[in-house]
Amino acid sequence: MKQAESKTQADFLAPLKVADPELAGLIKDELKRQRHTVELIASENFTSRAVLEAASSILTNKYAEGYPQARYYGGCEVVDQVETLAIDRCKALFGAEHVNVQPHSGSSANQAVYFADLALGDSVLAMKLDHGGHLSHGLKVNFSGRFYHFHSYGLDRETGRLDYDEIERLAKELQPVLIVAGASAYPRQIDFERFAAIAKNVGARLMVDMAHIAGLIGAGLHPDPVAPSDYVTTTTHKTLAGPRSGVIICKGKHATGIDKAIFPGLQGGPLMHIIAAKAACFKLADTPEFRERQKQTIDNAACLARCLQDGGINLVSGGTDNHLMLADLTNIGVTGIEAENRLEDVGITVNKNAVPYDELPPTVTSGIRLGTPAVTTRGFREPEMEQIAEIILAALSPHVTATEIQGLRKKTDKLLAGFPLYPHL
Ligand SMILES: *Cc1c(COP(=O)(O)O)cnc(C)c1O
Repeated sequence: MKQAESKTQADFLAPLKVADPELAGLIKDELKRQRHTVELIASENFTSRAVLEAASSILTNKYAEGYPQARYYGGCEVVDQVETLAIDRCKALFGAEHVNVQPHSGSSANQAVYFADLALGDSVLAMKLDHGGHLSHGLKVNFSGRFYHFHSYGLDRETGRLDYDEIERLAKELQPVLIVAGASAYPRQIDFERFAAIAKNVGARLMVDMAHIAGLIGAGLHPDPVAPSDYVTTTTHKTLAGPRSGVIICKGKHATGIDKAIFPGLQGGPLMHIIAAKAACFKLADTPEFRERQKQTIDNAACLARCLQDGGINLVSGGTDNHLMLADLTNIGVTGIEAENRLEDVGITVNKNAVPYDELPPTVTSGIRLGTPAVTTRGFREPEMEQIAEIILAALSPHVTATEIQGLRKKTDKLLAGFPLYPHL
């Protein structure tokens, strides 16, 4: 009996590499992949050691349905403080009236706003997915497109930018009850004040989905969406560099509706370890170092954009104001999927992406999306961005050979060697 007990205790305390070598090996492989690739996926980042520690803490053990001081479980006195800390820090960072830190992801945050604000079948106006919107903004096969009546606005064909006069015309014609602003692949600043004026004009509420640009907004480097809108949703793992999760910010008058929509409307117990990681993320985001990194992220994107354009690559809207750019490869005769694969071969990770008015299917596409949050976190500055641009241009040139690809891969390795990632792991 004694022996069985101590075996149980030994299993309980066994490190992952002993308890499950197969899984530990896969995590090691992924660490290696992250270390040995240039990460240009615009929605990704490297989170800090502090956030990783909070996310893997024993707070995962705690059930805490409800909200601080109003839980359906005992023993919540500590996690109440954790959640309150996350809420207060998020409020301070974004100047928010009310914050809910319980959404599990960006899509869950959007779902909760729709659930709180809309009746089934209500009319909503949001950005087209294939012009840079998000699937939770009304894609037919997504819950949003199934349950609500989404209409969409796109980008101007000539300028590649939002056409606010056209959005206003659509709003007047369609009379939506909610307008959604925000995008996954839009390289320019968004005029949230203008969106608010359009919404007000037709009696609609305004929701801003700032998932991609939350870090830039927290750093004061992008016009603020919080004051002019009813609701702001975000992920915490993109430019904000926190754990994979979501947040809802809203005006005080919507607080009860939002909180009820998350719990008990859509979720059960909150992920307290992830809420703790969000608290750490908001603390780190409220520092001069973070603001400096966000500025460098924008500078790096501007530098990469300029180098690619000098090398003959067309960018949608002719450049970037933020952390990402959308390259239209039509003129160089390479599809999005071909470019994604070829760049993977040289150690650079990007994603294929539809360009506005793309004639190729979404599985192929004419473009790629490139972003600088992850490489900036890793420490890259303009000289490294210039080298990356050279490697990209060489890899995408029409007659590149297998030997040249190998040589480019070596260049990438050499560049990365100067920027160790998670040396403690
Ligand atoms: C990334 C993103 C989301 C969704 O985030 P998930 O956490 O993957 O659900 C929502 N909206 C926009 C605009 C995004 O870019």
